[in-house]
Amino acid sequence: MQTVAVIGAGQMGAGIAQVMAQAGLAVLLADVNLAAAEKGRDKIAKALARLVAKDKIAAADADAIVARITPVGDYAPMAAADLIVEAATEREDIKQKIFAAAGAVLAQHAILASNTSSIPITRMAAASPDPARFIGLHFFNPVPVMNLVEVIPGLATSAATLDTMRGLVGRLNKELVLSQDEAGFIVNRVLMPMLNEAAFVLGSGTASIVDIDKACRLGLNHPMGPLELADFIGLDTCVEIIRVLHSSTGDSKYRPAPLLVKYVEAGWHGRKTGRGFYDYSGEMPVPTR
Ligand code: NAD
Repeated sequence: MQTVAVIGAGQMGAGIAQVMAQAGLAVLLADVNLAAAEKGRDKIAKALARLVAKDKIAAADADAIVARITPVGDYAPMAAADLIVEAATEREDIKQKIFAAAGAVLAQHAILASNTSSIPITRMAAASPDPARFIGLHFFNPVPVMNLVEVIPGLATSAATLDTMRGLVGRLNKELVLSQDEAGFIVNRVLMPMLNEAAFVLGSGTASIVDIDKACRLGLNHPMGPLELADFIGLDTCVEIIRVLHSSTGDSKYRPAPLLVKYVEAGWHGRKTGRGFYDYSGEMPVPTR
């Protein structure tokens, strides 16, 4: 594998592009337009500059990594990619359109992968030109730091496609877990009900934002409380994942907490928008309730 295209240059897409380039791969980075893709590469350059300042990597290596990332404004250059990774907004309608456009230029041997957190792979594979070469490749946030990749074959995914992904995850120096194609896979199936429940607990007035997070950090020995973690993931992404769990299973235990939905409706999507359960505009996060 030599060239990877990453579609979506947000928190996850930028992180995926960075680790691919760090592993020596040429990366084509796309978003809704060229300017957004360029912004994504700038974000990566800034993240690498911070590592250089901390003496974690050499300046020349950081420059070489950034130089391997080419922002692109359309799909045509992706015909040169051995792998296309979709990491756009967690909405099936958006992803289906991307698969149709990327599928139109996908090379005969190339693989199309989705970084979706929850949407069933088999269903999305059906919108791609060859479901045998479609797979779920689920990274964790922040991608350069988190060592896990969940790999999710769909019903029609070939053994060769899975093997290629095993090789890639090894090359990225990350650990792989295999999940069958069930909504939410492993991690989000376990995590999202907890984050959602934390929003129910807040909404019912049982405890404050600060105490819910403190209780879970100290009482469960979690590094982050559920509300700060939800802010870190993105509250919009959390709600989309919870809705996928709800609609896929029909189980009311996955209904989204009304307060969580309200935050998203207010445009308070967490850290990435500067405000979620906490306000991030100052030096230290301040709880919003
Ligand atoms: P984000 O909001 O930071 O980024 C999404 C990006 O997709 C934005 O830059 C947006 O402009 C772009 N986009 C939207 N429509 C597009 C289109 N048609 N073509 C190209 N780009 C488009 O979200 P994120 O946190 O990076 O999440 C992206 C994906 O990764 C989602 O599927 C999400 O579920 C998944 N994911 C997120 C996390 C997390 O912790 N945030 C972890 C694992 C997986």
